[in-house]
Amino acid sequence: MIFTEMEQGDYEQLVFCQDKASGLKAIICIHDTTLGPALGGIRFWNYEHEDEAITDVLRLAKGMTYKNAAAGLNLGGGKAVVIGDASKDKSEAFFRSLGRYINNLGGRYIAAEDVGTTVEDMDYIYQETDYVCGVSEAYGSSGNPSPFTALGLFVATQRTAKEAFGSDDLTGKTVSVQGVGNVAYSLCKHLHEAGAKLIVTDINDKAVQRAVDDFGATAVGLDEIYSVEADIFAPCALGGILNDDTIPQLKVKAICGSANNQLLDIEKHGKALQDRGIVYAPDVVNSGGVINVADELEGYNKERATAKVKEVYNQLDKIFTIAKDENISPQHAADHLAESRIKAIQNVKSVYSQTDKNILSGRK
Ligand code: NAD
Repeated sequence: MIFTEMEQGDYEQLVFCQDKASGLKAIICIHDTTLGPALGGIRFWNYEHEDEAITDVLRLAKGMTYKNAAAGLNLGGGKAVVIGDASKDKSEAFFRSLGRYINNLGGRYIAAEDVGTTVEDMDYIYQETDYVCGVSEAYGSSGNPSPFTALGLFVATQRTAKEAFGSDDLTGKTVSVQGVGNVAYSLCKHLHEAGAKLIVTDINDKAVQRAVDDFGATAVGLDEIYSVEADIFAPCALGGILNDDTIPQLKVKAICGSANNQLLDIEKHGKALQDRGIVYAPDVVNSGGVINVADELEGYNKERATAKVKEVYNQLDKIFTIAKDENISPQHAADHLAESRIKAIQNVKSVYSQTDKNILSGRK
């Protein structure tokens, strides 16, 4: 069963980690290392069944391969899931045990934070291995990723505006924002400074009030956000919110937000947006955080990392160009870009190994 799934999805390695003494039960999945070591976060989740954890780690690791490749990073895709209750099962021994497993992979997998894990957890892992990012500042960390995700999203919004309106100037443009949490608050700051008007909603009234007070945003109800008159919609809360129910309500010309997997059905709803003439910027627009954290691997340099995050503009430019040239949705274009990068490097690798073989056979 598992080998069939790994073969179908072209997975390289699945590692089950069990340590009775610390209670560790984790799965590390390395999907593809063609472009470089597999970088992806560690998710700590109370999975009801092991099968759920396996399905999740496979899905998330593959997603990282595509996101890292489409973002232009020289990194492969991987992920780890830890089965347990983050509020009571964590301990130093637990993460140091996981750190040893990661170390044994010799750099094929590089860990970082994800849902349920923190900087402190990464610090424990760092006691056992260098193959971890997102450690605390004392060890050369890149800090909170959200402002970098927001910066990448902001330049992506500019490029999206160019696609939809012919100019990346956001002065006077209205952006509707769903969820004004960590990423979207920083995004709203950039948009406000660029002269955009904001319409916001959130289940958290305080978050809404902060955006109203700080940026003069207009607050609307949770469902109202889909039907407000705006130029660009920025979904920054939940996945699956672009669906049969919401797409017909939209009065925007473009969508660019940080939430992962916004299209409930990639094929159907990607096409529905295309049919309505709405420009959709795919998931790669939220890669600023991973671009920033990956800079730690070279000895973190904020200036260099910031410049790399701004490259999201050019990556999105490539994706929109592919979408137009091949008459496909931007989501598919992002996947094509990722696949073509990986394929090109796979070919290079096969040339090298072929050469090695020839040299060796020549010695005989
Ligand atoms: P966050 O939890 O700080 O913000 C999410 C906000 O959405 C919160 O204020 C929450 O109250 C609000 N919200 C939740 N449900 C809502 C609903 N039904 N309607 C309206 N608002 C709702 O999270 P974040 O770190 O800002 O991340 C936002 C999104 O971006 C998430 O989907 C996350 O997976 C994605 N993302 C974040 C990063 C990052 O660097 N933080 C990187 C990549 C992707």
